[in-house]
Amino acid sequence: MPPAKKDKEKRLTPVMRQFDEAKRAHPDAVLFFRMGDFYEMFHDDAVLVSRLLNLTLTAREKDSPDPIPMAGVPHHAAHNYIAKLLAFGHKVAICEQMADPSKVKGIVPRQVVRVVTPGLVTDEGQLDARANNFLVAIELSASPASAAHTAPTALEAGLALLDLSTGELSAAVVTDTATLLAEIARAEPREVLLADGPEGFAAAARTVLPSAAFRADDPLDDADIDALIDGAVSEPIAELARAEHPLPALRAAARALRFARRCTPGASIPVRRITPYDPARTLRIDEVAQAHLEIVRASDGSRKGSLLDVVDATVTPAGARLLRRRLLAPLYDVAQIRRRLDEVELFVVHARARDDLRESLTRIGDMERLTVRALIKEATPRDLGALRDGLLAAPLAKAAIRSIPEPSAVDILGASIDECADVAEVLARMLVDRPPPLAREGGILREGADPEVDELRALARDGAERMTALEASLREKTNIPSLRIKFTRVFGWYVEVTKTHLAKVPPDFRRKQTVAGAERFTTDDLDELADRMEHAEARALEREVEIFDGLVRLVAAEAPRVRALAERIAAWDVSAALADIAHRHDYARPEIDSGERIDITEGRHPVVERFAAAGRFVPNDTALDTAAERLWLVTGPNMAGKSTLMRQVAHIVLLAQAGSYVPARAATIGLVDRILSRVGASDNVARGESTFMVEMRETAAILRHATPRSLVILDEIGRGTSTYDGLSIAWAVAEHLDEVVRCRALFATHYHELTELSHKRPRVANYSVSAREHEGEVIFLHKLMPGPASRSYGVAVARLAGLPENVLARARSILSLLETGAPLPSGKHASMRARGKNNEAQLDLFGAPAGRKTAFPPGVEQAVDLLRTVDLDRLTPLESLQLLAKLKAMTTPD
Ligand code: ATP
Repeated sequence: MPPAKKDKEKRLTPVMRQFDEAKRAHPDAVLFFRMGDFYEMFHDDAVLVSRLLNLTLTAREKDSPDPIPMAGVPHHAAHNYIAKLLAFGHKVAICEQMADPSKVKGIVPRQVVRVVTPGLVTDEGQLDARANNFLVAIELSASPASAAHTAPTALEAGLALLDLSTGELSAAVVTDTATLLAEIARAEPREVLLADGPEGFAAAARTVLPSAAFRADDPLDDADIDALIDGAVSEPIAELARAEHPLPALRAAARALRFARRCTPGASIPVRRITPYDPARTLRIDEVAQAHLEIVRASDGSRKGSLLDVVDATVTPAGARLLRRRLLAPLYDVAQIRRRLDEVELFVVHARARDDLRESLTRIGDMERLTVRALIKEATPRDLGALRDGLLAAPLAKAAIRSIPEPSAVDILGASIDECADVAEVLARMLVDRPPPLAREGGILREGADPEVDELRALARDGAERMTALEASLREKTNIPSLRIKFTRVFGWYVEVTKTHLAKVPPDFRRKQTVAGAERFTTDDLDELADRMEHAEARALEREVEIFDGLVRLVAAEAPRVRALAERIAAWDVSAALADIAHRHDYARPEIDSGERIDITEGRHPVVERFAAAGRFVPNDTALDTAAERLWLVTGPNMAGKSTLMRQVAHIVLLAQAGSYVPARAATIGLVDRILSRVGASDNVARGESTFMVEMRETAAILRHATPRSLVILDEIGRGTSTYDGLSIAWAVAEHLDEVVRCRALFATHYHELTELSHKRPRVANYSVSAREHEGEVIFLHKLMPGPASRSYGVAVARLAGLPENVLARARSILSLLETGAPLPSGKHASMRARGKNNEAQLDLFGAPAGRKTAFPPGVEQAVDLLRTVDLDRLTPLESLQLLAKLKAMTTPD
């Protein structure tokens, strides 16, 4: 150690030495250091929290040459401050005093008892009831070739998702970077644990999530893994986990468990099973499509206006979480999807049962998280009361399902599940109707729950009656009518006599205290009675708390059963809620098969039909078929509804594969493995990428990852660069999709030239969203028609948007010059031909050497003119050859 540092350390007070030691053990956490009634923060932590939490920054050892920056919060309010720090992505280490300072000589021992981290929150106040709170652990063992994320990279990664608040832990193995990133994005984790891995991956991962969520983690060895798995789950389940999971998945699960254990030493981990999952059995929606399609969040980041927002009619928190997970990870398995749809259908058909079920579910509460609170011994009497209410509602939910007059309903919905009646019965018998929020104040058990508590309570009650009797007898004995027996928490029981009557106080009254205008006494009788009462009350309280702890243990012991029930109830909630949406908004059951069509009759956009175009939405048909028309080029004026149409197709596929009815009159969905999308323009200035760069990066990813079973949605490719570059890229991308990828795709564009593709390519079809112009105004019909659009009405739309009239007039005149190929006002030649009307324009365009911005190589104009004069019917073969040679000479630059 350098001498300067040593000196400094020597000067540390014992308390600051304690702080330093704790901080060294938790360098990446903000350390809340308990000092009396405050948590204090020092050094950089103090500076950080004073800024983030708006606290006053003071100093310790103010007069020394090196004052220590300090900030503090009262311990009883720490909760709120911690929640805010977590929201900023920080971890907080809580360092407590381990003994009562008044009973310790010298310095109080202190210890970090818990590290609170965003990914491991279990506290209700800090959780979103309707979303999971995942910690993601990643175990990377990359092949050397996979260091850079720019190539489709092979790797073997274990991935584990832990939600400590619900006790769920699932694990998977992933074999390429893109899938790994998509899986991370879909979990929406609050925190990600990453062992040192290939730098390329970490960089790519940080584009998916804010970097504050990342924690570097140290490696695990095989013995650690075994110990962690065995420590978390019971023996048969640990064996099952080893059999079910490949090693990387197990390692990732162990990493998540180790993190939880390190952060909450002493507390038990509520995980009872490690669920295997296989990303290949889900519909892949990568992180870009997830954002573009606004699945759980609208573009402004809020839930309002997202797909989830319009289809979520669940009435329980666990149901809401399940639906959210299903939308983020729809299925890729015909049989499983049909099973989910069968569940929904029962509730669509049997409205009465649906309503009864939903009514009973409003009383269920959050059984999943309540059970976990029992497992980690944080359940309050109120929690157990809520769990009891939920368990008591379970038979009503089952009865609603039994009322469905179809023999298979109970089987389809799994309604013969154990309803944990024994647990419900115990809780109902023991707990008062509305249990208190804290155990330590008693009042938890109902009358008749426990004979001893009843007896002690009777004693206490009886004591109160006897106090009244004692007061009366003392009054009579002393002849002091104003004599009172009173109680204060600090002072206990006493007899109070006002000054005027002091002369009448008998000698066996012992003085306790003098107050203004009165004296306070006690007597032997009073002492004895008070003692018995206090004892009875204290004992009753103690006994109540003991019994309550027993109830918590009972729930913890039965947790697997209760949780199985909670899971099933959540699934009923989702099915009934989707049925309710289907009923209210006229959705249809989709046909799911393994074919290659997407055939939608009168499809609607689930969000636009409810908000922007409520009451006037125009439904449209869409039929993509890998073997027939697989690539639809959608043209049409600005604002006609191209984006809406494309997103509605993606939403319908997504909803169908999630197991929901869809906003259409009918729909047949041949299973889709991935939805890939590129929609609109967005900069990523923070990452140093321009709009066009982002667009091209996203397009590159689509072309790389799309398979013949994918659905690709391309909205406006190549708009962020010059017209010819953009058009060329769009053209080549469309060709590649049709020729190489061969998947179902919707491609919206304002490049009318692209519509030419359909002439040569039988699987490319033109459709357009129609509009009409009436006296200079565009009228949007929003109706999809076969064939290309005639024009864009861009200037008309600009007028709608309020561009000044002189600018519009000028735009119109330039547009007509461009369309006729006349010279531009600058003297340059207008190079854009009448769009989509003649083929030469296309040939010219693509004959141009790459990178040229001017339209035509020298001579091309003349060659075109020459071609126009030729009468093919009269040309001899020799003349044709001569003409060809001439054309070649004219158009080849020397
Ligand atoms: P641009 O080319 O300018 O991007 P666009 O053709 O993609 O436009 P959208 O953004 O899809 O147009 O739609 C514009 C608006 O038109 C929507 O916000 C919606 O209010 C309305 N709209 C779109 N489709 C329909 C429809 N089928 N029925 C009724 N209104 C619709």
